[in-house]
Amino acid sequence: MELLFLGTGAGTPSRQRNVTSIALNLQGTRSGCWLFDCGEGTQHQMMRSQVKTGKIEKIFITHLHGDHIFGLPGLLTSRSMNGISDTLTLYGPKGIKAFIDTTLSLSGSWLTFPLEIVEIAAGELFSDEHFRVTAWPLTHPVECYGFRIEEHDKPGALDAQRLLADGIKPGVLFQQLKLGKTVTMDDGRVVRGKDYLGPATKGLTLAIFGDTSPTPAAAELAANADVMVHEATLEVALEEKANSRGHSSTVQAATAAKNAGAKKLIVTHLSSRYLREDAERLLAECRAIFPNTEMAHDFSLFRL
Ligand SMILES: [Zn+2]
Ligand SMILES: [Zn+2]
Repeated sequence: MELLFLGTGAGTPSRQRNVTSIALNLQGTRSGCWLFDCGEGTQHQMMRSQVKTGKIEKIFITHLHGDHIFGLPGLLTSRSMNGISDTLTLYGPKGIKAFIDTTLSLSGSWLTFPLEIVEIAAGELFSDEHFRVTAWPLTHPVECYGFRIEEHDKPGALDAQRLLADGIKPGVLFQQLKLGKTVTMDDGRVVRGKDYLGPATKGLTLAIFGDTSPTPAAAELAANADVMVHEATLEVALEEKANSRGHSSTVQAATAAKNAGAKKLIVTHLSSRYLREDAERLLAECRAIFPNTEMAHDFSLFRL
């Protein structure tokens, strides 16, 4: 999997950071891509990246502030004009459906692909053959969520050579054994799938936060996560100001990662007051608390 940051700024775009959007490329697990938030200009950022609108199968919206959703109408209508017919599922807090329906109808727009809109609450959003995704309430002036993405463990490979050597023929039997099942053969032999499977690969866990001040849900949302993505809107000296607006400081993001036992922290959603040359100083504030921290810039790519 890959995390590509399409926009890493807070509130308003700057020359160096567009507003929030993160693409999770599922490559290696299945084709397709998930998008987390869609600030204004996200489709322009996508055109400068490898992310294709047609590949997006799900969009998760953390909250309805403009810097997280104003890119949606343009992205959806472009996807339609490009002739994409695959279903897209959009998850977001209550009101996301009214926002989409209103902007599309007032602008005389329509979509040629099925758009499923799911208005979410805290808890499990779905669990499919590869992932389980849950939403966790954060602390922000409007309803806001963080998402925990848990990849299921991948079963080990079936040792076909050894099965053949033991006189077990390929076909339906192999499929049963691959699932770890025990089967009885025609000659009465009992064969256990587990005896022919290699070691399972542990699935990855990601925690992607929306805007928040320090919040009680963080410890569980990001518990032992391989990667935690958290906002760091302002430096530690401006912590009070950050908190008064429902945001976190660098140090608070790092403290949340440390308390949750996350393995790696990526900070994003930086105020437009900061320029590229401020990055090192802000990152140092985080690393003093949680050494394995990286800062996301627009088009930063993290291979997981
Ligand atoms: Zn924001
Ligand atoms: Zn916000």
